[in-house]
Amino acid sequence: MIPAPFDYHRPSDLKGVLALLQEHGDEARVIAGGHSLIPMMKLRMAEVPHLIDLQSIDSLKGISIAGTKVTIGALVTQHDIIDHPELGRVAPILKETSLQIADPQVRYMGTVGGNVANGDPGNDMPGLMQCLDATIHLIGPNGTREVAARDYYEAAYMTARDDGEVLTAISFDAPAGGYAYEKQKRKIGDYATAAAAVTIQKAGGKVASASIAMTNLSDTPVWSEAAGAALEGTTCDAAAIKAAVAAMLDDIDPTEDNRGPVAFKRHVAGIILTRAITRAWDRA
Ligand SMILES: Cc1cc2nc3c(=O)[nH]c(=O)nc-3n(C[C@H](O)[C@H](O)[C@H](O)COP(=O)(O)OP(=O)(O)OC[C@H]3O[C@@H](n4cnc5c(N)ncnc54)[C@H](O)[C@@H]3O)c2cc1C
Repeated sequence: MIPAPFDYHRPSDLKGVLALLQEHGDEARVIAGGHSLIPMMKLRMAEVPHLIDLQSIDSLKGISIAGTKVTIGALVTQHDIIDHPELGRVAPILKETSLQIADPQVRYMGTVGGNVANGDPGNDMPGLMQCLDATIHLIGPNGTREVAARDYYEAAYMTARDDGEVLTAISFDAPAGGYAYEKQKRKIGDYATAAAAVTIQKAGGKVASASIAMTNLSDTPVWSEAAGAALEGTTCDAAAIKAAVAAMLDDIDPTEDNRGPVAFKRHVAGIILTRAITRAWDRA
């Protein structure tokens, strides 16, 4: 389908973006890679009379790494992540996740900022960012502010970002230890039926700490404190993994759709999480 008519704006700095958002209010939306917004506009699920392209804003680009502190600009694409050797060394879970998103064509265009800002429960980066306890950086008419990724998602397509704000970057302290991003999808290029992000730190042969989040099993990503706690102090044996999976299954709330009925999704969630924990522990 063809989208409804819109005016296209391409400001060269953030000041210009914020001014356009203020001027046009509900009628304006920023566009980054366009790989979620354009399909929505073509399907007439979103009507955007004023489209504000972020691609000329250089301050939203680039990955910076200082020790274990990683900052990713909103316009960094999934391909940029895959293609960044230092990031691959410091935070390899990002590359592992990005490689499981869509296909190369989408990954050349889809941005981390768009993926995180979008609020689609099927996006993979939000769960990953919750697992990493990342911070989301926003700028708006009243200046800048930071929101924890774990507090950012309110419901499907509803986030803590105000309409007049732009997501500028995502930062996190890269965890040492084991990691895994595991995803089940119906075919290449599909969104997850269930996906799990896991990090595990090991000390003295036991789990010192663990962080676990899952994707597309509720209307928001689900970071389960109880699931991580179930592993802590254990040798990550079968009983501990079973307890972590049980804790996560208590926290998710999947609904039936074209990826299957609720019972199937819960079953897949258990298998995917078991695999992710096992792999993260093997790497820890
Ligand atoms: C065929 C296909 C398969 C896909 N499969 C997957 C998948 O398996 N997993 C997955 O995670 N994703 C998937 N995607 C989505 C893709 O990976 C992009 O990450 C996603 O489209 C969002 O990034 P974008 O830059 O395209 O955002 P856009 O489409 O440009 O924007 C998406 C939304 O975020 C808002 N937005 C964008 N940037 C900002 C910002 N800086 N500040 C505030 N708001 C902003 C926009 O206003 C819009 O509402 C798929 C897309 C396609 C087309």
